[in-house]
Amino acid sequence: MDYDAVIFDVDGTLVRGECLLPGAPEGLRAVTDAGCQRLLFSNNPTRGAPHYRDRLGAHGVDVDPENVLTSATVSASYLAEHHPTDPIYLVGEARLASILEAAGLELTDDPSTAAVVLGSIDRDVTYDDLGAAIPALEGDGAFYGTDPDVTIPTAEGMSPGSGAIIAALEAMAGRSVDAMLGKPSTVAAEAALDRLGVPAERVLMIGDRLNTDVELGRRAGMATALVTTGVMGRADIEPGAEPTYVFDSLAELADVLE
Ligand SMILES: [Mg+2]
Repeated sequence: MDYDAVIFDVDGTLVRGECLLPGAPEGLRAVTDAGCQRLLFSNNPTRGAPHYRDRLGAHGVDVDPENVLTSATVSASYLAEHHPTDPIYLVGEARLASILEAAGLELTDDPSTAAVVLGSIDRDVTYDDLGAAIPALEGDGAFYGTDPDVTIPTAEGMSPGSGAIIAALEAMAGRSVDAMLGKPSTVAAEAALDRLGVPAERVLMIGDRLNTDVELGRRAGMATALVTTGVMGRADIEPGAEPTYVFDSLAELADVLE
């Protein structure tokens, strides 16, 4: 099968912690050898593109930050387009706040003036922080989340992710977010296709999560691959939502692209 571009998730797909996963160098080389474009897309809402250039560069993998999207950068671009001057109340981390401000967005600490609420992982969130969001969630202001990951793997096991914080905000608001902006949203798929400049059916989306990575590709009409080196395996595949491919190692990508 011919593809013009391959989108890689990062954690659990290319790297685990600070280690490059076995098979990742072969998979990345296969993309280059096939003349395909490469885009990295992480749902981490606390990092921008330069982080991935540095993190993968440490393993000898050259990454152009132009070819990196995260749920933070996608959220910033979306809000800059749709809410360029609206005060945003963020329940999220300082690094995400910096990425939003660098995109020219206005954050507010005063929930009564907020026109937009953005929920995301916040490893320092307190009871008072959640309570302070209530006035911002009342009324009909826009309400978004960066990414739906309820739990994320850490060195200590699984920890609460953005989805857990956003679920608390949704419960207090009595309504669901208007959109999750990271994978697997249409917003995220369009951001990726826009960056690549190729039609969805010429793209292969690879990741270790069925509900975000594979789901983004499936909804957008891309080919998809689950790689079982991260949080999900074959047993997690639901009938009717099978990925195009299942790899136990990214090295198997060479057989698909050759
Ligand atoms: Mg992953």
